[in-house]
Amino acid sequence: MSFFANEMIAEDLKYIWHPCTQMKDHENIPLVAIKSAKGVYLNDYNDNSYIDGVSSWWVNLFGHCNDYIGSKIKQQLDTLEHVIFAGFTHEPIVTLSQRLCKLAPEGLCKCFYADNGSSGVEIALKMSFQYHKNSGKIRPFFLSLENSYHGETLGALSVGDVTLYKDVFNEIIIKTIQTSSPKNQTIDEAKRAACELEKLLKQRGDEISAFIIEPLVQCAGSMKMYHPLYVTLARELCTKYGVHLIADEVAVGFGRTGTMFACEQASVSPDFMVLSKGITGGYLPLCVVLTTQDVYDRFYCDYLEYKAFLHSHSYTGNPLACVAANAVLDIFENENVIQNNQKTIAYIAEKLKKFEGLSNVQEVRQTGMVSAIELCGYSPQERVGLKIFEYALARGVLLRPLGNVIYFMPPYIITCKEIDKVLDTAYDAISSLVLL
Ligand SMILES: *Cc1c(COP(=O)(O)O)cnc(C)c1O
Repeated sequence: MSFFANEMIAEDLKYIWHPCTQMKDHENIPLVAIKSAKGVYLNDYNDNSYIDGVSSWWVNLFGHCNDYIGSKIKQQLDTLEHVIFAGFTHEPIVTLSQRLCKLAPEGLCKCFYADNGSSGVEIALKMSFQYHKNSGKIRPFFLSLENSYHGETLGALSVGDVTLYKDVFNEIIIKTIQTSSPKNQTIDEAKRAACELEKLLKQRGDEISAFIIEPLVQCAGSMKMYHPLYVTLARELCTKYGVHLIADEVAVGFGRTGTMFACEQASVSPDFMVLSKGITGGYLPLCVVLTTQDVYDRFYCDYLEYKAFLHSHSYTGNPLACVAANAVLDIFENENVIQNNQKTIAYIAEKLKKFEGLSNVQEVRQTGMVSAIELCGYSPQERVGLKIFEYALARGVLLRPLGNVIYFMPPYIITCKEIDKVLDTAYDAISSLVLL
């Protein structure tokens, strides 16, 4: 490592507290200082490159330093960088909203903006609760799936169910109920879990404002996947019991599951759809919550009736972020991304077969551009995820396993050769564990 990078890392550790990290780990595990990036490659200060196998926490859809997105942001920089979004508007956000409403499942026709996924989840929860309250009903509970993840702010954490993140805060979270999640991708599991859901809604439906789900893939919950039928059945049941359905597509939206939005595969329209992560291609923070005319109308009245949704974030609707999002949608259109990704998805599927033969592999799963390999036989103390991370990093691949689950969420521009490199490295890493 260069002298400069070493100095910089020391200064980093002196001043910075990193996200989702036990900082003491960095006594032994070096921070990686990245100097530049292009396409799927991250470059450090020592002339090493790493293939970004996780799209830098799932946000980078079209590679790093993408010329097209970059040029659009540069133009906007000298035109309008930001403006207060209460009482004011601008062209990039109007264009973006028109486009999103056109692309989204039918009925989603109003856009409310924020700047990160957790805030978007908070917005959907608050809007749902207030919708019922504005209608004269108090429904104090939210329903979510076991093993779900919806973000880290207190409301979003409360509807999540990843104990590692949530348990510390059990005394101070909001009222939630968890229902059984489908445990695999079979139709039978989808039906079984939907039966459980109906039992719960029959009993407690009128106490529940909304049911929030990550359609098809529970990403932070170890990339657990389930059949679209569950989403279809959940939609029917929510409608039957007057409970809103919130589709948290923060991670799965924008083509991750093979379709533009995961809900499409279930042919349903949720009452709220939350989008973030990939929306700007990894350039700038942005989030949008799409909802229906019905929800919008329940807040629409004379000011002194006090039914407005009085929620805001300082950076709401930032024009630079909106321009990046429009550029991302341009790429989807101009390069026929959803269709072209099908070839990449099929290629990955073929390569994944090999993993099933490894004795320490419990399950291999894939939904579109998300794939995961679950290992068996390791205790949390062994931290195999960390071992795999280090093994792959030393060979030029960035993987960041979730516990015993190694996953791939590459940028869509990844080539077959680069997929080979990522998956072959993962294969070697996993088989090297057998030999240990
Ligand atoms: C990442 C994520 C969030 C939270 O988004 P942030 O921008 O990290 O706050 C919410 N829901 C899901 C499904 C996510 O994957």
